[in-house]
Amino acid sequence: MAHKPVIRVVGSLNIDFVTRTPRVPGPGETLSATSMTVHPGGKGSNQAVACGKAAFTSPSSQDVVVEMIGAVGANDPYYASLLKPTLEKSGVSTTGVEEMEGVQTGTATIIVDEGSHGENRILVVPGANARVNDLAKIIETATKDGIPDVVVMQGEIPRSTVLGLLKAFNSPHYKTCVIFNPAPMFPEGVPIDALKGLAVLVVNETECRQLFTCVDELKTVPTSGLDEPMTELELNRLTTYLHNKAGILIVVVTLGSQGVYYSFETPDFLDRSLIPAVKVERVVDTTGAGDTFVGYFATAVARHLAQVKGLENLNVREAVGRANEAAAKCVQRNGAMESIPFGYE
Ligand code: ADP
Repeated sequence: MAHKPVIRVVGSLNIDFVTRTPRVPGPGETLSATSMTVHPGGKGSNQAVACGKAAFTSPSSQDVVVEMIGAVGANDPYYASLLKPTLEKSGVSTTGVEEMEGVQTGTATIIVDEGSHGENRILVVPGANARVNDLAKIIETATKDGIPDVVVMQGEIPRSTVLGLLKAFNSPHYKTCVIFNPAPMFPEGVPIDALKGLAVLVVNETECRQLFTCVDELKTVPTSGLDEPMTELELNRLTTYLHNKAGILIVVVTLGSQGVYYSFETPDFLDRSLIPAVKVERVVDTTGAGDTFVGYFATAVARHLAQVKGLENLNVREAVGRANEAAAKCVQRNGAMESIPFGYE
């Protein structure tokens, strides 16, 4: 019998302080800026919100359970008044978020230079996110009422935690469907061995190029210039390598306004395709587009797994298509979490 699917997102929670300014002050200079606004953020919580919102089939019903696992500073007024309520209104349980003593909630200070086409300068203080390192505790929280259908992870918590969780959740003991989005890519990269048995890898073009540089066998593949879109040859070579060497079932590369490339390989068949982006009238703000994509894709996978064991019969094209549509809605609105659409929209 089908059960209500469960997604657990293990990742970062941040408070974003966004200051808009006509220009960036020089050393020793004080300048009047335009505005300062505070927003809930962090890639982990953005993706949890995207999973939660995707799971709403109507304004009052949600068909997937979504829980956030991570850490914030104890007694943080911004967590209490902003981040926690936003997660909860988006259908995300926060019982797995630890409020830690002696450390601040992670922050991102974002300076938007309005004079240079809104180019951002960002300072991140990881704070409590850097303390998400107790593997046994995280695994216990993530499996407290059984092994979840899907675990989603990104790159804003310690690398050792991510590598440890990949190993655990891909091991026969816990074997679950892990969706890994190495964003941002760890400076040391990700060893190919750590990806062994991974169900789904999602990268954008930047992270995809970073994968090229950390895998020796791929350095010989002719690569396009940094400003040019990746070629299908590059994408085919990379995904073939990842399927063969690490046994990853599904590799997805999001290509911004070009759309999405995916490659799905089982022992019986290979399905790969480039799905164009949905044409939009006006792109307002692309912040959160990748997170929206990951959340919607994860929700589609979780719904499938609640009906059928294993991903072999997943309609990847349909799941990618749905996530592509949701991400296109996101780029037409301002903000990160605020711009993620609900599933019934
Ligand atoms: P990230 O936000 O991680 O950098 P991308 O820029 O690749 O990720 O965007 C993620 C997805 O958002 C794309 O694969 C696409 O589905 C959607 N998207 C991004 N930019 C546009 C756009 N200009 N028009 C329509 N969809 C877009």
